[in-house]
Amino acid sequence: MPMVSMRQVLDEAAKGGYGVGAFNVNNMEQIQAIMEAARETKSPAIVQASRGARSYTNDRFLYHLMMAAVELYPEIPIVLHQDHGNSPETCKSAIDMGFTSVMMDGSLMPDGKTPADFEYNVRVTKEVCEMAHERGVTVEGELGTLGGIEDGHGADVDPMSHLTDPDQAVEFVERTGIDALAVAIGTSHGAYKFSKKPTGEVLVMSRIEEIHRKLPNCHMVMHGSSSVPQDLQDIINKYGGQMKQTYGVPVEEIQRGIKNGVRKINVDTDSRMAITGAIRKVFVEHPEHFDPRDYLKPARAAMQAVVKARMLAFGQAGHAGDYEPIPLASFAEYYKQQPVAV
Ligand SMILES: [Zn+2]
Repeated sequence: MPMVSMRQVLDEAAKGGYGVGAFNVNNMEQIQAIMEAARETKSPAIVQASRGARSYTNDRFLYHLMMAAVELYPEIPIVLHQDHGNSPETCKSAIDMGFTSVMMDGSLMPDGKTPADFEYNVRVTKEVCEMAHERGVTVEGELGTLGGIEDGHGADVDPMSHLTDPDQAVEFVERTGIDALAVAIGTSHGAYKFSKKPTGEVLVMSRIEEIHRKLPNCHMVMHGSSSVPQDLQDIINKYGGQMKQTYGVPVEEIQRGIKNGVRKINVDTDSRMAITGAIRKVFVEHPEHFDPRDYLKPARAAMQAVVKARMLAFGQAGHAGDYEPIPLASFAEYYKQQPVAV
């Protein structure tokens, strides 16, 4: 099937009461790991690329790798999503290239670091909605600011100081017309999210419940939601790595979010850690090896295992065959019928 609109995948997830993992990619092995996990679990797949990933792959490699995924996995609905677009121009270039979904992160200025004000956020996000929806492409916006910097994007702020305000969220969704809202609830990008197992004081899941009560039909997105599992930290450190002890977002907290309107869960760090641990192990155990396949194969398998575990935990497993893809042109028609907020 052709690549599908993320709106369709999230609408279906809302109907079915499950969440869908959005996994970041930078190369062929990561795309293969996600697609194999999707096939194994019969899951829809959201593949996302940051600006850093697009420049690393030089865009065209990424595009053609994704075309290969579409060709080789015809039974899987696949979304290609721009993660943290920093400006309308970035989103436009993604749409021109064939992305079926974009995130306009207007919570930060175009430098991807400086927190922006509400009116700026509304203006750029609305602009992207108008441009994207005309072509049936989905838009994710963000309100509130996460901590942590990843791929050069993110604000080095105290994650507790910029949580999403529920009333402002209602206004933001109404004025912009976004399909999905990324919320700030105390998480950060990268591996170093919490210095101990998070409590409700630092990982404010109650905020998601509040927003869901006010916006029951809005798809919420959890960023910075890797679980940073202890076993992956241990493998990395056992084979010469030097990761400091850290704690991520427990899977059961994500499941609580899914019960309260979270439909997309961004995971990147867990994949990175799985890959790095597997490669380190080969290097230590087989210092005589020098064929990249000797370490990239176990690396790919390790990422596939972690992606599979998340797909099962989020509830998306078994849902790949539930629906036929709706063409982007039909979504463009649908958006045209929607009332425009002032
Ligand atoms: Zn993010």
